[in-house]
Amino acid sequence: MTQEAHVTQGPLTTEAGAPVADNQNSETAGVGGPVLVQDQALLEKLAHFNRERIPERVVHARGAGAYGTFTVTRDVSRWTRAKFLSEVGKQTETFLRFSTVAGNLGSADAVRDPRGFALKFYTEEGNYDLVGNNTPVFFIKDAIKFPDFIHTQKRDPYTGSQEADNVWDFWGLSPESTHQVTWLFGDRGIPATLRHMNGYGSHTFQWNNEAGEIFWVKYHFKTDQGIKNLTTEEAVRLSGVDPDSHQRDLRESIERGDFPSWTVQVQIMPAADAATYRFNPFDLTKVWPHADYPPIEIGKLELNRNPQNIFAEVEQSIFSPAHFVPGIGPSPDKMLQGRLFAYGDAHRYRVGINADHLPVNRPHATEARTNSRDGHLYDGRHQGAKNYEPNSFGGPVQTDRPLWQPLPVTGTTGSTEAPSHAEDDDFVQAGTLYRLMSEDEKGRLIDNLAGFISQVSRDDIAERAIDNFRQADGDFGKRLEAAVQALRG
Ligand code: NDP
Repeated sequence: MTQEAHVTQGPLTTEAGAPVADNQNSETAGVGGPVLVQDQALLEKLAHFNRERIPERVVHARGAGAYGTFTVTRDVSRWTRAKFLSEVGKQTETFLRFSTVAGNLGSADAVRDPRGFALKFYTEEGNYDLVGNNTPVFFIKDAIKFPDFIHTQKRDPYTGSQEADNVWDFWGLSPESTHQVTWLFGDRGIPATLRHMNGYGSHTFQWNNEAGEIFWVKYHFKTDQGIKNLTTEEAVRLSGVDPDSHQRDLRESIERGDFPSWTVQVQIMPAADAATYRFNPFDLTKVWPHADYPPIEIGKLELNRNPQNIFAEVEQSIFSPAHFVPGIGPSPDKMLQGRLFAYGDAHRYRVGINADHLPVNRPHATEARTNSRDGHLYDGRHQGAKNYEPNSFGGPVQTDRPLWQPLPVTGTTGSTEAPSHAEDDDFVQAGTLYRLMSEDEKGRLIDNLAGFISQVSRDDIAERAIDNFRQADGDFGKRLEAAVQALRG
C-alpha cells in the first residue's frame, strides 16, 4: 500500500559487486591531474546513467499505474467460459495503467485529452489485457488512419509545437471524429483525477460460452467515486502548479487506504443481431445506446496497491489488446484489428523481446510455457528444457481448442467500405450527446471548441470543422459558428 522499506546492507559496490572506495572524487593522475581510465567505478556510473531511458511510448507516454483486485458479482457463464469470470465472488489480481494520449513522458496530467485505461487481469488461463480509454468511442474507425491522426496531435515537423491547423484540418476532413471530439471538448474531457472518471473497453469484443455460442460485448467501468471534472481554466492553472496532479492523487489515495473502485458493466449483443442492427456494431466511433443493450453489472474493480518502482512497473509495463484468454476474442472492428498488431510490435521495439518476462508483465496466476528462447536479456528461466514441439520429453502441447469462435465471412477482398447498416452515418451520436448535455455544459463545450478552432490560420479549415458539428445538430453548429466568428473577428 505504501512505500516498502528497502535497506541495502553492506558497502556501496560496482555493478559487479566490488566495494567502491570513493564515491565523491574521481581518480586522477596526481593531485589536480587528469582523470584516469582505470577509474572503472566512474566510467561504469556514467555509462549506466547515459542508458537510463528507453524510448517513451509514441502515444500514451505519460502514465500512472496501480495493482488491484477484480471481483465477479454476477454469473456470466452463459455468455463466456473465461475462468476468471466463472463464479460469483471469484477474485483476480489486476494492474491498471492510466495515461494521457498526446503528451510526452514529462507532460502535465491536467490536460484535455482522452485517458488510457489499460487493465491487465492476471488470470489462471494467462493474462487478459483490456486496453481501453475513459471514453466509449474514438476519433477514427480504421487503424490505417491512426499514424496520420496522431501526427496531427503531436508536434508539427516545422514548428515543433502542436498546431491548431493540423488538428482541425484532420478532424474536419474526418467526419467520423465528430462524436469523440464532442465528448472531448465537453466537461468529461478533463477529469479531476484518475479516480473520478469512467473506463470503457470501447471496442466490441467476442465472448463465447462452453457450448460455442458467440456474443458481442462492450465493457464499462463506472467510477464509484462519482464523475468529477476540471474546467479549462482550472486545468491550465493546475498544470502549472502541479503537473503531476493525477499521478500524485492516485498514489496518495491508495497510500491512505482510500482505494478507488469501479463497478464493471457489460452490454451483451447476441451474435445474430450484428448483421441487422441499425448501425455497424463494430464501428469504434459509436456506442451501443443503453436503451438497445442495457448495461449489466458483472463485477467490481478496486485499486489497492501502489507499484514500488515506477520505471520497472509502469514504464516497462506492456499491454496488448491481443492478450486474450479462453472465452474472449476479437471482433471485426478495424481499429481493434490494427491494434492487435501494433501494441506487441511497439513493446518489442521499446522494451525488448523479453518484455513479457518482467515481473509486472508475466502471468502471475499461471506460467508461460512456450518454446521461444534467448534474445536480449533472456534470463534462462527454461534452463535445459527442450525448445521445440512436438517432442518426446514431456514438453507442453497444444490444446486443440481456440480461445474464440471462428466467424463466417463473405464477399471479395478489397479496401472500399460501403455503409452496411441503415444508420451508419458519422453525426447522429454526436448530436445525441450534444442534446443530453445541460445548458451550462453546452455553453462550456462551445467555448472550448471555439477557443481552439479560432486559432486556425485558414477559413476553409475552420468552416469545414464547424460544418461537422452543424450536421450533428443545427443548434450546435449555429452557436459554434457565432462563437468562432466572435473570436476571429
Ligand atoms: P443514455 O441516456 O442511456 O446514456 C447516456 C450516457 O451518457 C450515460 O452512460 C452517461 O454516463 C453518459 N453521459 C452523460 N453526460 C455525459 C457527458 N456530459 N459527456 C459524456 N457522456 C455523458 O443514452 P445512450 O446510450 O443513447 O447514449 C447517448 C449518448 O451518450 C451517446 O451518443 C454517447 O455520446 C454518450 N454515452 C453513451 C454511452 C453508452 O455506452 N451508451 C457511454 C458513455 C457516453 P454516466 O452514466 O456515467 O453518467
